[in-house]
Amino acid sequence: MSNLQTIDKQYVANTYARFPVEIVSGKGSVLVDTDGKEYIDMGSGIAVTSFGQGDNVWLKAVTEQLGKVQHTSNLYYTEPCAKLAQLLCEKTGMKKVFFGNSGAEANECAIKVARKYAQDKKGKEYSTIITLENSFHGRTLTTLSATGQEHYHELFNPLTPGFVHTPANDFAALQELALKEKTAGIMMEIVQGEGGVIALDADFVKAVAAFCKKEDIVLVIDEVQTGNGRTGTMYAYMHYGIEPDVVTTAKGLGGGLPIGAALLGEKVESVLGFGDHGSTFGGNPVCCAGAVSIVERLNEDFLNAVKAKSEKIFTALQGASGVKSVSGLGLMIGIETEKSAKDIVAACMENGVLCLTAKTKVRLLPPLNIPDNLLDKAIEIIKTACAV
Ligand SMILES: *Cc1c(COP(=O)(O)O)cnc(C)c1O
Repeated sequence: MSNLQTIDKQYVANTYARFPVEIVSGKGSVLVDTDGKEYIDMGSGIAVTSFGQGDNVWLKAVTEQLGKVQHTSNLYYTEPCAKLAQLLCEKTGMKKVFFGNSGAEANECAIKVARKYAQDKKGKEYSTIITLENSFHGRTLTTLSATGQEHYHELFNPLTPGFVHTPANDFAALQELALKEKTAGIMMEIVQGEGGVIALDADFVKAVAAFCKKEDIVLVIDEVQTGNGRTGTMYAYMHYGIEPDVVTTAKGLGGGLPIGAALLGEKVESVLGFGDHGSTFGGNPVCCAGAVSIVERLNEDFLNAVKAKSEKIFTALQGASGVKSVSGLGLMIGIETEKSAKDIVAACMENGVLCLTAKTKVRLLPPLNIPDNLLDKAIEIIKTACAV
């Protein structure tokens, strides 16, 4: 084991089982380790580096901002923060944006908004947030409570009260639960990412959206992983033509810098007032400048290219040897394989491709602009690793 790995193991909290690879640099969709070995990046640091490593436009935006001012707090106006909020609203029809630093914080904001809206309007007892079984909403205690997977819960009781879970794609069950509880909000991912890259049924999503509208329940769509072009639309909810009240996002928004955002729709745009919520680092000008350079480029042509790359992967892998099924949307893809996902990821790494897992599946989240020649090469290596 290298010196670096020994130090890391001794001093960094043991929360991650790292692969024995030390990444030292990267450009575009290629990462390089200490031995100079190159890897095609099919994970993007878990859907974060939307345009790959060191993308020139992103790099220029970030370094130019770094040279001007790196942090001001939210006591003053800065251009990147205002500009990013405007861009996000113009691209979605949402009305206002709260900036934090991560997906979990974006969801915390959404939960606070849903509760405050319901309590202002319907009464103090309206606090329940409904989420789906097999969901993932973050690691803070409250977003962990929102997460509908028991194994994340059991070590950290007591959890934040007021969260109940219901099966995905069962609208009757959701409706019954929502009417039984004093429901403030319903939160869900359009494609359950950590849960195994599973897209919700369109009918279910539409029924939940219509129900929320009718009952004046705050609909929160967690687009932390699915957002910012990842599924071939600006946000994944756009595939289904619904209008959420809150959209949360993070991962790919900053192109590699930490940023989270809660986009607030018309119904809830005025729920938060002065002092109701805050974040010291939220709206950081460097992170926002990077994000502007990403979001500005998510136009129709670019999104069509994402869809084409997605189709290429689906076509190549569906029915391939050792592949049981391929799920997901856009460049967020889960592969159910005959061999164990862990073994496939290890074989791919050996052959110069970095993939992820989600539950028992191999998960692919390549940079949105991965060049076709690299994508073809990665697909061949993945196919070989899956083959039985
Ligand atoms: C990753 C993720 C989160 C948590 O984001 P962090 O930035 O790790 O806090 C929340 N929701 C979904 C759907 C995610 O994929």
